[in-house]
Amino acid sequence: MIAYDLPLWRPPSEGDNLIVQATLGCRYNACTFCSMYKSKRFQARLLDEVCAEIDRMAMLWPEARRVFLADGDAYCLDTDHLLALCGHLAARFPALQRISAYATPFDILAKGAGDIARLKAARLGLVYLGIESGWDDLLHRIAKGSAAQMEAALTLARASGLKVSATVILGLAGQRDWQAHIDATAELINRAPPVYLSTLQLGLEASVADRFRDRIGPGFVWQDDAAILAEQRRLIEHLAPPAPVIFRSNHASNALALAGTLPRDRDRLLGELDSALAGGRGLRPRWLRGM
Ligand code: SF4
Repeated sequence: MIAYDLPLWRPPSEGDNLIVQATLGCRYNACTFCSMYKSKRFQARLLDEVCAEIDRMAMLWPEARRVFLADGDAYCLDTDHLLALCGHLAARFPALQRISAYATPFDILAKGAGDIARLKAARLGLVYLGIESGWDDLLHRIAKGSAAQMEAALTLARASGLKVSATVILGLAGQRDWQAHIDATAELINRAPPVYLSTLQLGLEASVADRFRDRIGPGFVWQDDAAILAEQRRLIEHLAPPAPVIFRSNHASNALALAGTLPRDRDRLLGELDSALAGGRGLRPRWLRGM
């Protein structure tokens, strides 16, 4: 048995893959809406300790092909540390195809093209990046850097062959500012498209709700499901990326699951949204949703 340090989070698409906890917590841990790692103090786990755990995992599941490095932003680890982990994984799992991790824009920019290429050659070729919004004002209010940093990280990743799976949070700007949030987000993605794009719906744990409200400003009012679908619709309508973007809204927080490739499937996705907005397609019940 592998005893993970809980809570353990991973992207929906990594649900069937091997998870190796290379770090505990999130080094950044400052985003105002995020409660994922508030109970953990960030630490890089000792390489020998993680390698010994990988050895035990290899005995239990030797045919594993995909590995996700947890916790929060394991891509922040020193490049040589990551390369040693990748090398050990490749030695223990003969069928290994892909290694992935969460990353912040700061991690990607700090690595630079050379280290990104070295890691990609070692099979760490996919990162999950929460861009949340392309609107500078909102990014500042949620303590998530700037749109320029997001764009620079996305551009560097694409130029270096690192696949990015990016997430955007619907409802993040509330009723008053939703159009500015969505329009700037579409513009960012059109300038610097990730390979994969997903949307989530805002949900706040009680432990972070006060800080979120303090930073977001006094005028914040939650969006209801119809307004969230209108945000989704406007985002898809405005997306015209110069390279194909594989789009999903399959996260458990979403009222409506959508899947397609943009811009090719834009009209079909808009049709599905219009059907849902007109009541012709059921939404996921609230009790089945979660962040
Ligand atoms: S959203 Fe990501 S980067 Fe921000 S605090 Fe949470 S885990 Fe860390």
